[in-house]
Amino acid sequence: MNSFSWQRAVVKVGSALIAPEGNECSGRYLLALARFITASREQGKEVILVSSGSVAAGRGKVSSGQYKVKVRQNPSIAEKQAMAAIGQNIMMANWQRFFDFPCAQVLLTADDLRDRTRYVNIKNTLREIINHHALPIVNENDTVAVNELKVGDNDNLGAYTALVAQADTLIICSDIDGLYTSDPRKNKDATLIPVVESIDSTIYGLAGGAGTSVGTGGMRTKIEAADKCINSGIQTLIVNGRHGETFDALLAGKVPGTLFKAMRTPSNARRLWLTHTLKTAGRIIIDKGAKVALIEQGASLLPSGIAGIEGNFAQGEAVEIVCENQAVAKGLSLYNAKDLILIKGKKSKDIASVLGYETTNVAVHRDDMVLL
Ligand code: GLU
Repeated sequence: MNSFSWQRAVVKVGSALIAPEGNECSGRYLLALARFITASREQGKEVILVSSGSVAAGRGKVSSGQYKVKVRQNPSIAEKQAMAAIGQNIMMANWQRFFDFPCAQVLLTADDLRDRTRYVNIKNTLREIINHHALPIVNENDTVAVNELKVGDNDNLGAYTALVAQADTLIICSDIDGLYTSDPRKNKDATLIPVVESIDSTIYGLAGGAGTSVGTGGMRTKIEAADKCINSGIQTLIVNGRHGETFDALLAGKVPGTLFKAMRTPSNARRLWLTHTLKTAGRIIIDKGAKVALIEQGASLLPSGIAGIEGNFAQGEAVEIVCENQAVAKGLSLYNAKDLILIKGKKSKDIASVLGYETTNVAVHRDDMVLL
């Protein structure tokens, strides 16, 4: 088995595990997975869960109990959205019973991830949830997202979550052992591919259609997710979550499935993106003390170190950080230019009273900054 190491992972759990019968949430396959999450956190690692199961849970709930409404196998969009609304809290409760720490519900749509301000807010929120030792559980906000606004499947949602959370690993837990040379359900000679170094049309060619009748994704969406991730420095694993041994192996740093290797390290990928892809929309002028803190202590930029603002940038846009006319760093501003003008030179504790709100206590977070 191949080895891997990680620090922050998004663990994606598909319907095949959480709703194996297709019409309600089950704990059957989740105990080993929950133990893996708890043990990993005890080792100081960080986990974000992306879980399916709300539609199946809703369907199970309405078809049992007093009224017993039968939901068609192919429900209308509105009906599916209603099932998601009914089932989402059942899915959350199904997870919470496995953990002593709080589970935090995060519902996202593709639109939220495309919008710069919301993207920054999602990132900040995930960071705070983790800082408070809670477990973020992400799902698509099915009740509001019509098809055009949807990510559409939780494999790709897992990839977007890994990107926004700056994870180094995406672990896709399914009911299949990994990527095979052909469909193992149809061909008994199919063999498991333990490592994929790069994703090309041949790899996509190995993916058939959707895997189960319950889940939205199949192998194709898993490869799409891996493709997004490895290009951003996020290694991706496909493992069989139905086997308890899978999680023993993962805890021992082994990959009991397919490992899609990251093309570069996440910090390098981020560095490339920040340095070369993002255009700056303005400049933040900082004092000498702040420059020393950024360079020598690896600190975030606080409002107190800001001497001036140039340009009219929005929250989340890239800015150049400058000291005495020399570019020191490039980063994403957590406040817009107008608000930074109001809080420049002030203590972080005064942000809320000056602006009437506080997103974070820093102007540019260390994670969103590259030194030049
Ligand atoms: N968001 C859907 C649900 O909670 C699942 C989508 C998927 O499995 O890809 O039921």
